[in-house]
Amino acid sequence: MEWTIKLEARTGWGEVETIEVGRLKRRVVDLTADEIGLTLAEGKELLSELQRLVLQTQMEEYTMCARGCRECLTIRRQRDCRTRTIQTLFGTVKVDAPRISVCPCSNEMGFVDLSFSPLAQLLPDRCTPELRRVQADLGARHSFREAAQLLSTLLPCSPTNHATIRNRTHRVAAEIAAKAPEAPKDAATSNGEMIVMIDGAHIRAAPGYQTRHVDVTVGKVEVTGRRPRRFALAPKGSDHPLAPMRAALIEQGWHPGRPLAVISDGEAALPNLVRAATGEPVRHILDWFHLSMRMRRIEQVLTGLSGRQLQQPEPVQTAQASIERIRHLLWHGRPDDADQEIVSLLGHASAISEQNGASVQESTNDLTRLCTELKGYAQNNRNAIVNYHRRYHGKQSVSTSRAEGCVDEIANARMGKKQRMRWSPRGAHRVALVRAAVLDGRLKPCKVIPMAA
Ligand SMILES: [Zn+2]
Repeated sequence: MEWTIKLEARTGWGEVETIEVGRLKRRVVDLTADEIGLTLAEGKELLSELQRLVLQTQMEEYTMCARGCRECLTIRRQRDCRTRTIQTLFGTVKVDAPRISVCPCSNEMGFVDLSFSPLAQLLPDRCTPELRRVQADLGARHSFREAAQLLSTLLPCSPTNHATIRNRTHRVAAEIAAKAPEAPKDAATSNGEMIVMIDGAHIRAAPGYQTRHVDVTVGKVEVTGRRPRRFALAPKGSDHPLAPMRAALIEQGWHPGRPLAVISDGEAALPNLVRAATGEPVRHILDWFHLSMRMRRIEQVLTGLSGRQLQQPEPVQTAQASIERIRHLLWHGRPDDADQEIVSLLGHASAISEQNGASVQESTNDLTRLCTELKGYAQNNRNAIVNYHRRYHGKQSVSTSRAEGCVDEIANARMGKKQRMRWSPRGAHRVALVRAAVLDGRLKPCKVIPMAA
């Protein structure tokens, strides 16, 4: 059996031309399973041929129309014609790119023969925006090598190597960075609490950067009634590293003077980044999850102790009641009372050790260490411990667990240790920027006129 695939091109002025795209042949009698339908290789070949024919005819008509002067409606002179290659998702296509003389009616320097290339104006990068966007999208999800491999496996894409993917991803990052943030138009969401959840990750630095790790900061800006907006940046990776965070804030409706709360773990650097991005004071809320995890470890040691046959189990029970009280006090935003209770808990820990001898020494050492750490942590973040109970029942965020998901999605999945990649601060900043945009769905596909029915 044989098929002929034909393309019928109809120009804007009604000229119709039929061009053969390709042919397919299959045996009928000895047909094997591998020969059923189009193969990947045939599909790629047909697509690239189709792209070549569409693009060449399209550009021919486009440059022809571009010869007409919009001012005086005469046809401008074609000065010469060059070939130009255009990279697309479906292959690299060579097209004629004529240069056209500027019309005498608008050439202010009449004595010089000025010319321009309409095609170069249309596609200055010699690459379709869609190809660049797809390459950046994949480059933000996979390693540059994997992304290149993936594209060339499935598509008759212009030959790609990891360097091209990296450059295009960086290019898209620059475009994202250059885009001025727009405040939302709906006034309905301009009130209500605005929350920034922020967390950090360390990724391995490339050799030659005098540091083993590059810091990446990721987070989400949440406002009731709007989809959360992610941001990611490497504080040392750009001349204006905080711009992505500021853009996320503005696009969620922040304006100078609007109160902002930051939820993060005890690292002061993170809320300080938000202060630097807004230039205003922000309210810091210590992440309940991090606080709770510290108490959880103490509870685990005590559960372990209570499961053993001790000579004197009583102080373990007292300690368990004590950590329960500490949890309750911190949950209700009473750090000073919790501090006193931690002092009592430390006393109970020594009592457990004194009354039960060397067999529990290891556990009570752990207990003392964990309690001392919790005491220091709660004291250092005293002002950031709030009434979580009230917030929780008022349906307000108490935890950065969602920001941590963000760290996984952005820093760990693409840049983390499993990927065995090393990063320059600048490269990390750009990939983080694109990855946050990809996850938010902010890398929009281009608008195409829908097909006629
Ligand atoms: Zn003219």
